Amino acid sequence: MSTFKAIFAEQIEGKPKISIQQIDRASLPAGEVLVRVHYSDLNYKDGLAVTGRPGVIRKYPMVPGVDLAGVVEESSSPDWKPGDEVVVTGFGLSETVWGGYAELARLNADWLIRLPKGLTLKQSMAIGTAGFTAMQCVVALEQHGLVAGSGEVLVTGAAGGVGSIAVAILAKLGYRVAASTGRAELGDYLRSLGASEIVDRSSLTAPSKRPMESERWAAAVDTVGGDTLAAIVRALVANGSVAACGVAGGAQLNTTVYPFILRGVNLLGINSVYVSRTERLLMWERLSRDLPLPLLDSMTQEAPLEAVFDLGEKIIAGGVRGRMVIRIS
Ligand code: NDP
Repeated sequence: MSTFKAIFAEQIEGKPKISIQQIDRASLPAGEVLVRVHYSDLNYKDGLAVTGRPGVIRKYPMVPGVDLAGVVEESSSPDWKPGDEVVVTGFGLSETVWGGYAELARLNADWLIRLPKGLTLKQSMAIGTAGFTAMQCVVALEQHGLVAGSGEVLVTGAAGGVGSIAVAILAKLGYRVAASTGRAELGDYLRSLGASEIVDRSSLTAPSKRPMESERWAAAVDTVGGDTLAAIVRALVANGSVAACGVAGGAQLNTTVYPFILRGVNLLGINSVYVSRTERLLMWERLSRDLPLPLLDSMTQEAPLEAVFDLGEKIIAGGVRGRMVIRIS
């Protein structure tokens, strides 16, 4: 096969043009390992990229798709051989490196990890960057003193990808999870993942002139940012932490220093893209252990590559529930 199917993003007269095309194999970028992609997934960033919004693609032409899982076809690296099942998340895929929305990807050998034991390729993409990020958030909270019994842990944007996986992991670990959502109709779904309480997203962002509210959250995983993150900071318990990973509701953060200097709260930034190999392997090991697979399967839907454009609009509008796996080949 001299060509392969891909979503291809070009810049024509300064504007992004994104379409499904047959690409010549010879156009693949340099790299030690050629992977036949079986599955990718849909993250918020993928929604931005495939709908031509700014902020993700930094180099054209580009194959979007921040994650991929597949089977090694060729390798010049001693670490990988044909037939190996591999997973890649982050490392600038869809930003500066051709990503997962293609039947073939050529990649640097040290970006790949072996498919974790007990997971299928499809399940690894049900996890993808969203699940990886959720796990990073939980680990960061633990490293800052969160233990079961500390009190209620809030997850915002709970019905989305990062949020759903964070709820499932935290509940499995024995935390009492409050799930904040703007979609009240998904309350039963969130309870099925382990949430003990459903919080209306608008109640978190009610206007307040106070620098601090009464102490409510032992910790939080925040995928929303903006006024939501500011409200969480005001209502953390003394020495509590919020892991801030998302911007679904806004990028501005209006806060005072008082929660930090009077309550010792911690604002923990999470970045899933450039993560050391040691930390990456630790996260996947924790995911294999702490994310119940029946819950992962229950929050996952599958769609073909062609559906990515519509799904991209849907995820940006906050309309995707849980995780979406994209079938490639
Ligand atoms: P999803 O769209 O699946 O989830 C986002 C959720 O946020 C939605 O489902 C919705 O949840 C809520 N939401 C959407 N719009 C708004 C709004 N205007 N105000 C308040 N809440 C809103 O996206 P992902 O889970 O893939 O990503 C979540 C966020 O995390 C994104 O901002 C993404 O960029 C970021 N992210 C960051 C990473 C990092 O490395 N730091 C890695 C991965 C993701 P509900 O309906 O339940 O309210």
